[in-house]
Amino acid sequence: MKDKVVIITGAAMGLGYAAAVELASQGAKLVLVDYNEEKLEAAQKEIKDKYSEVEILTVIADVSDEQAVKNYVDKTVEKFGRIDGFYNNAGIEGKQASITEYEMETFKKVIDINLMGVYYGMRYVIPVMQKQGYGRIVNVASVGGIRGVLNEVPYVASKHAVSGMTKNAALEFGKDGVLTNAIAPGAILTPMVAASFKQVNPDDPKAAEKEYAANNPTKRLGEPEDVAKVVAFFLSPENGYVSGQTIAIDGGQSNVY
Ligand code: NAD
Repeated sequence: MKDKVVIITGAAMGLGYAAAVELASQGAKLVLVDYNEEKLEAAQKEIKDKYSEVEILTVIADVSDEQAVKNYVDKTVEKFGRIDGFYNNAGIEGKQASITEYEMETFKKVIDINLMGVYYGMRYVIPVMQKQGYGRIVNVASVGGIRGVLNEVPYVASKHAVSGMTKNAALEFGKDGVLTNAIAPGAILTPMVAASFKQVNPDDPKAAEKEYAANNPTKRLGEPEDVAKVVAFFLSPENGYVSGQTIAIDGGQSNVY
């Protein structure tokens, strides 16, 4: 990934941050996007401390705001002149509740961020990649994009949509050298998943974590680095012919009946 320009949304923590570290180690030029300004600055500093030669642009944006998305794309082209890789990662879980009782405001927020945010990203990044005749996109779905997850109806709806949009992008832009894939992580230990275990068992989130790990074929949860390595591959020219796929990164758990 030496000198490849990569935009990462949701880069301040979790999966986005882990991918930023991995790509920095491979010599990429990074555009780190997040709506948490304080955490984004801290993330940039940590990466710079470790990889001082890496060029980093940070842009504050809420990915559910179309103009803010256009702005992070414009800023990237202004600074680096191109976009080789796009990690369309920012997303939220929402509150866990039954389908019949789900709070509408939260439902719409999850759709705005997870579905519309991913769509806006592709809408503005793809024309730049088309002009170059080259691009690699990784959208972040979830195992909730290939299966149901109890009490998470807007999350599951939004992640199935991400998987669907990934297929359409692959159909439309393969001819332009743009390969688009999605990843479907299982439970990976990030701040989001820690908060999720708190929702499952507010008194003892560690017990919920242990139970989840026991049900996984590998008997452990994933680490953000497990995901970052796969993402770095699909953002690189090393991927020459995989497109439109949703790749589970879940220790095999989605195969369990
Ligand atoms: P996280 O909460 O640990 O980190 C998410 C980052 O995205 C944060 O820095 C947050 O500030 C940022 N963000 C959230 N909404 C944003 C918005 N509207 N605009 C800009 N930035 C925003 O979460 P994570 O676990 O790293 O999740 C990253 C992605 O992976 C999400 O799309 C999530 O749905 C997906 N995912 C995660 C897991 C997992 O196990 N961690 C599993 C499946 C899917």
